[in-house]
Amino acid sequence: MLDKIVIANRGEIALRILRACRELGIHAVAVHSEVDRELKHVLLADESVCIGPAPSSESYLNMPAIISAAEVTDSEAIHPGYGFLAENADFAEKVNQSGFIFIGPRPETIRLMGDKISAKRAMQAAGIPCVPGSDDPLDSDKQKSLRLAREIGYPVIIKAAGGGGGRGMRTVHTEAALLNAISLTKSEAKAAFGNDTVYMEKFLENPRHVEFQILADTHGNAIHLGERDCSTQRRHQKVIEEAPAPGITPEQRERIGNRCAEACREIGYIGAGTFEFLYENQEFYFIEMNTRIQVEHPVTEMIYGIDIVKEQIRIAAGEPLSLSQQDVQIKGHAVECRINAEDPQTFVPSPGVIEQFHMPGGPGIRVETHLYNGYKVPPYYDSLIGKLIAHGENRESALARLQTALSEMVISGIKTNIPLHCDILADGEFRAGGQNIHFLEKKLGL
Ligand code: ADP
Repeated sequence: MLDKIVIANRGEIALRILRACRELGIHAVAVHSEVDRELKHVLLADESVCIGPAPSSESYLNMPAIISAAEVTDSEAIHPGYGFLAENADFAEKVNQSGFIFIGPRPETIRLMGDKISAKRAMQAAGIPCVPGSDDPLDSDKQKSLRLAREIGYPVIIKAAGGGGGRGMRTVHTEAALLNAISLTKSEAKAAFGNDTVYMEKFLENPRHVEFQILADTHGNAIHLGERDCSTQRRHQKVIEEAPAPGITPEQRERIGNRCAEACREIGYIGAGTFEFLYENQEFYFIEMNTRIQVEHPVTEMIYGIDIVKEQIRIAAGEPLSLSQQDVQIKGHAVECRINAEDPQTFVPSPGVIEQFHMPGGPGIRVETHLYNGYKVPPYYDSLIGKLIAHGENRESALARLQTALSEMVISGIKTNIPLHCDILADGEFRAGGQNIHFLEKKLGL
């Protein structure tokens, strides 16, 4: 097993990784920005290193500073968490070249999946069903783009090949709007991701977002851990996630899950990963793969009784998967609310000092957060401050536990989206399950 790991992240996920290290008897090194000295995992870590000023471009995205921290602390591996450098192939490569283990897939795999066009091509070749669309980048040939859109049929969606975080996408309903939409998306993509490559897909009108979790080791073993439903979104960003996805049959789970695991074996995938699909009229359409741990991983952990972060670390240490596909059995249902420091109506971020913090509890309740009384949420980073997860024997009991826990949870001093979660959980359409990706925005009147 590894002896020492650098946690190249912050907030709740850094604390989650620190806890996994502790359980495995691994020393944990926290790296943090100048404003993050008081982060819970920094205070708890065996060692900590300041890697730069507050802006993430100078700290959490500062590759040489993070690698130096691994060097000075004599660490063996770097866990990137999610966001920041987690899906940066150049970083993974530099980590390896500097003699450290990157806890994640090989750099070539990250690069392949980081470009949504090459990812779709690879997945198509591996027999994964994809959204119909241009299999190539859109070039300057306007007639070709117009022809392609006609073939696919409107509405279409123009997407940045290097996009992420729900940005770099534009829906087009009519031919008259197409060329302008392409050039706008291109310039936005250039500004946001430094890459103006865009492609076209059929815009699915009322899909659900259903994704499959996989684990693959360095010995050629790959398994799937079923699916999660992440359809409750605002601006293409997930707000509530659950597992299993309501209405997905064991046969569908096995068929798509096994195909994902098979694709992992084919491309030599290593580590934890997620295949994201849109699901409409009983059909799955691959949209992208995330080559890292995801925010919503706990719902899968709760229903399968597996620690995905510990598996990531064991895989990186060269150990074979601790379980086979037959060992993986669903038990109950789990739902997660992402708790954000933001106004529940306007969604404007709400940083500041936590005056009071009370954690809910009880059977089946799990809280993932770095908050504590007196902690100051800085204004520089993502507004996610925690996750509340409830597990129950079925969906109804998980939801009942989640509602009770939300009503107990107190975070004062800043605004949070807890009231929004209470509203959603009381909504008849949400309670019925299987709502599509437009549910929340419609409810909010957007
Ligand atoms: P990102 O990498 O930014 O998360 P994705 O490709 O995963 O982008 O898409 C994010 C969300 O955008 C999806 O969950 C879905 O809500 C919407 N979306 C993406 N592609 C399509 C499509 N072809 N049709 C309809 N909605 C889409």
